[in-house]
Amino acid sequence: MAASDMLKFTKIAQDYPVKRDAEERDDDFLEISRPYITDKAEEQSSRCSQCGVPFCQVHCPLHNNIPDWLRLTAEGRLEEAYEMAASTSTMPEICGRICPQDRLCEGNCVIETSGHGAVTIGAVEKYITDNAWENGWVKPIGILRDRSHRSVGIIGSGPAGLTAAELLRRKGYKVTVYDRHDRGGGLLTYGIPGFKLEKYVVGRRLKRLEEAGIVFKYEFEVGTDATMEQLRAEHDAILIATGVYKARALQAPGVGTGGIVKALDYLIASNRKGFGDDVPGFDDGTFNAAGKRVVVIGGGDTAMDCVRTAVRQGAKSVKCLYRRDRANMPGSASEVKNAEDEGVEFVWLTAPSAFEDRDGSVSAVRGTRMKLGQPGPDGRRQPEPGGEDFRETADLVIMALGFSPEDLPQMFGTPELGTTRWGTLRTDHKTMMTSLDGVFAAGDIVRGASLVVWAIRDGRDVAKTMHSYLMAKDAAEKVAA
Ligand code: FAD
Ligand code: SF4
Ligand code: SF4
Repeated sequence: MAASDMLKFTKIAQDYPVKRDAEERDDDFLEISRPYITDKAEEQSSRCSQCGVPFCQVHCPLHNNIPDWLRLTAEGRLEEAYEMAASTSTMPEICGRICPQDRLCEGNCVIETSGHGAVTIGAVEKYITDNAWENGWVKPIGILRDRSHRSVGIIGSGPAGLTAAELLRRKGYKVTVYDRHDRGGGLLTYGIPGFKLEKYVVGRRLKRLEEAGIVFKYEFEVGTDATMEQLRAEHDAILIATGVYKARALQAPGVGTGGIVKALDYLIASNRKGFGDDVPGFDDGTFNAAGKRVVVIGGGDTAMDCVRTAVRQGAKSVKCLYRRDRANMPGSASEVKNAEDEGVEFVWLTAPSAFEDRDGSVSAVRGTRMKLGQPGPDGRRQPEPGGEDFRETADLVIMALGFSPEDLPQMFGTPELGTTRWGTLRTDHKTMMTSLDGVFAAGDIVRGASLVVWAIRDGRDVAKTMHSYLMAKDAAEKVAA
């Protein structure tokens, strides 16, 4: 079909949406990329070679029908392109913004591997769905049939919980989502900063879910406001989608000194400030980088979000200390480039070992320079002490060393809830059910810290297995009756 509209990758060069200049963007929390204009989106989509075996699709965790929606976009059939994008994803415009495309769809596009530069899949996906919102093509959630005699309780309103909530509501179940925060969205709302994902984008998704009759109970912490057993008595099935929140700590002299903060506490304060909330920890300076020499420790996406937030808060200087080098860091290469453009300095191959203080407040980070040894199990070269010492002055140190799961069996009062040796929840690979009957789990709490797109995929998969479980329950009751 219309192959002549496609295959233009030899004639048309790859062209990502224009980014706002660093000087223009480094003091606001608005997204940094400008949207595609229609001609550009059509033109860029037409570069796709419509592969028989589309590796982009294979490597997209949602297996989105990428070649099809690219062709529809190139042909100007944008509403159909949106319908196709929405058929496999509950939030295509969010993935288009924050998926690490260079490691997923675009990194595996055949024209990238042939040296022509990948089709700009993420930017087109964002363009299609943003347009759908603007044009009213994003319809209310349709309820397929009434199954309100069954109710589902979902703990956690991150992308895994929200995806499952949408799909189960569509099946007709009564759905209640519990979250300990005062707003929904999980890390989409309180972790990821606005310059990657503006908050109205998450807000309109939440509104659509509320309008479909999904009940959100905020500031409700399971484990404190109800036990798991109480929830199980109230619902026919439960989904645990609580993410991973225990900050990994560094054991080093001076670690408890004032001015050393955890990454997520820092990002939550900044995001709350963006909502206009009263944030005492920001107002008293604890989580405010303005005028400070900031050192962020870590090399993942969370560290990148912290350094770029500190720039926007008006830090005097921002340095990122990481124990490996650029090639071996877990954070996305494009985020490092964005941070560097905004004035962040990366100090590679450095491992902190102590914190100095002046009058109870941190004044410097001391440590050892590293060198790289053999690759570890994850393929990245392992850091080893290189001998030399270093010292970086600092007024604010942000620890971004990753996250592990909280102790859910203890927190929920259910010691029989099975976990792995990493503390993530143990689930049956097929049913995604935990060791408790009717209690399922999805997202980071099962995978460990991962990606939004994988949380959506898990939410989609678990909605299916929960539906099967509830139908089997209905069938068993019918037989018994
Ligand atoms: P979460 O999004 O963590 O949501 C879990 C929810 O459960 C939270 O709202 C929490 O309040 C709630 N909860 C927890 N315990 C309880 C309880 N006991 N009772 C009630 N509610 C509870 N991924 C990307 O793909 N791209 C990115 O650019 C990216 N950037 C990131 C930046 C940061 C700073 C961080 C921390 C992560 C980032 N990620 C990114 C990872 C991504 O955000 C997560 O993989 C994803 O959000 C996991 O989704 P989830 O639904 O499993 O959990
Ligand atoms: Fe690419 Fe992510 Fe969209 Fe899949 S969901 S097509 S990986 S941007
Ligand atoms: Fe198009 Fe690239 Fe996907 Fe092939 S791999 S279908 S060229 S986007």
